[in-house]
Amino acid sequence: MSTAVCTRLNEIHIETIINDHDTFLFDCDGVLWCSPTVLPGAIELLNYLTTLGKRVLFVTNNSLKTQKGFAQWLNEIGYQAKPEQVICTAWITAQYLKSINFKGHCYCIGMQSMVEELGREGFHISDGVGPDPISPETDWIETSTIKFDDHINCVISAFDIHINYLKIVKAATYLSRPDVLFLATNDDVTTPQNDIAVLPGEGTILASIVAASGRSPTILGKPRAPMFDSIRLAFPDVKSTRTLMVGDRLETDILFGNRQGLTTLLVFSGATSEKKLDTVKQAVDKNTAEKELLPKFCIKDVNHLL
Ligand code: PLP
Ligand code: CA
Repeated sequence: MSTAVCTRLNEIHIETIINDHDTFLFDCDGVLWCSPTVLPGAIELLNYLTTLGKRVLFVTNNSLKTQKGFAQWLNEIGYQAKPEQVICTAWITAQYLKSINFKGHCYCIGMQSMVEELGREGFHISDGVGPDPISPETDWIETSTIKFDDHINCVISAFDIHINYLKIVKAATYLSRPDVLFLATNDDVTTPQNDIAVLPGEGTILASIVAASGRSPTILGKPRAPMFDSIRLAFPDVKSTRTLMVGDRLETDILFGNRQGLTTLLVFSGATSEKKLDTVKQAVDKNTAEKELLPKFCIKDVNHLL
């Protein structure tokens, strides 16, 4: 039996937790929906918390949509969401650049959401977003034909379904200049899986750029601090001790919440099974895993919180 403690919630705990917290941070995929299906009870729970006057935020490492895009999609599937309630990694990247007073041009491996969200804050992505095709006839890159932009002083790595060899060449070449800033939205190695295919995530793309450039990025999403810094900037009255983080991944959501001094609640509707939690508890007992990976509470799914 493990001595590491993670309390399984019962009705009395739930009432106390709701009373003791003002801000509720919900990780999205695996907690509120399992793409594309909304999980039972999720919409009702969020509506209930809102009627109690609680602040509800959607906190996701997904960089595929802007705040506005997520809010639109959330409303289409039945949630009541305003763009400012969405804390997504495209948005926090723009907030981070603003916080360091960044001036210059970005090369961004990522999707259109990055161009839009950075553009809203006046930051310019010169290249990287969208397909950067390599001729099917060639089996080598003619380096003299690559168009580099001398003005680029920041490389951003985000999730990109158009990632290819040429984009990695460009990112690594820009990063060979030590003064070029290196940011990454998140480092989730996979995106949520289905039974058909393994879907590599932003962390897998990032690993290739890190390996080729030998540089370490500043990573902005969960479990890193910039995610919470952006929340605090947008909502200055947020208090860590009165904030609950609900998530399905120990290495992102739970670690993030514990590092920021939030109360953490794990649900088993996504990436973490009860068996995995038991394995981590045993590893914590043996000092082979960080204590910070352990949630304070756990529950089957958000429906059981209702
Ligand atoms: N990145 C991508 C591209 C995704 O599609 C997802 C989930 O759908 C994530 C990251 C992880 O999102 P979350 O933090 O909501 O689990
Ligand atoms: Ca998740």
